[in-house]
Amino acid sequence: MTSDSQSSDTRHGGTGQMSRRNLIAAGATAAAVGAATLVQSSTSAAAKPKRSAAHRSFWPNGARLAITFSMVVENNADPPPITKGPGGKTYPDLYAETAVQYAVNEAIPRMLDMFDRRRIKVTSMMCGLSCERHPALAKEIAQRGHECGAHGSSHDVQFQMSLDDERAFIKKAADQIEQATGQRPVGYNCRAQLRSANTLSLEQELGFIYHIDDISRDEPFVVPVNGKPFAVVPYTAHLNDIPFFNNHGVAASFAQDLKLEFDALYAEAEFKRRMMVVTLHDSIARANRVKVFEDFVTYAQGHKGVWFARADQLAHWALTSPDSIKEKTAT
Ligand SMILES: [Zn+2]
Repeated sequence: MTSDSQSSDTRHGGTGQMSRRNLIAAGATAAAVGAATLVQSSTSAAAKPKRSAAHRSFWPNGARLAITFSMVVENNADPPPITKGPGGKTYPDLYAETAVQYAVNEAIPRMLDMFDRRRIKVTSMMCGLSCERHPALAKEIAQRGHECGAHGSSHDVQFQMSLDDERAFIKKAADQIEQATGQRPVGYNCRAQLRSANTLSLEQELGFIYHIDDISRDEPFVVPVNGKPFAVVPYTAHLNDIPFFNNHGVAASFAQDLKLEFDALYAEAEFKRRMMVVTLHDSIARANRVKVFEDFVTYAQGHKGVWFARADQLAHWALTSPDSIKEKTAT
């Protein structure tokens, strides 16, 4: 594998104004609604919302749709797998252990090479133990320009922890990740997205600026935590590789879902700020599955104004833009 010092600014498909393909000036109605108003050239144009030239772009640099990839690194962060024998006696599951090894031997290097080929940067949500046990690979993720976020110290759920235990768990994750990668994480993802009532406050206290354990919107937004702004970069449950691939999922069906979601959000992005989120996990990134992701990236990059962003870039945008949604309370 090679190092990639490319900038984290990975916009594709051109900058400047968003695509005007399939758009025509409003013609005879222009005088009434403003010369810059655009409508689609389809027969349903009259039913489409209209917006002025002043609101044509919802992202920096005229990008039309933001896409963010989350590469979850959680190998070696669970207790060693076991299987049950006669009488309920447990034994090490050595076969299952090889699936964990696959993440390190094949899957993560394969995903990193694909991201380099497509010139995109992603966010890797990492378990501290994974970084501790394979520090060179963790460091390579950072060196190749990807964001290192936190996915717990171990791969334990944390919603049931006491305040002090959860604080120690989150802090240990940040320390382990920083030790291995050189990056202090600013984004957090709980195991199975299961937060406690204290989680956001602790994340903020420990220097995190955003979390992803939320599926309430198709765009990043801001919530108040202890009276200060905290960003939310929503997760995806429906474009997550686990439900598709954990056993014998069909790669082609995931490919179809990715394209359908992209097409729908890209169309909506004509009139609204839209973000698409895709999640990949380290132990299941087999060759045919990573090909699905690469084909999807290639397809998306064939459209104008598609911005492959790291989640921290989206969080920074939400925290600094006057246009981001500010919720009155945090969920
Ligand atoms: Zn996980």
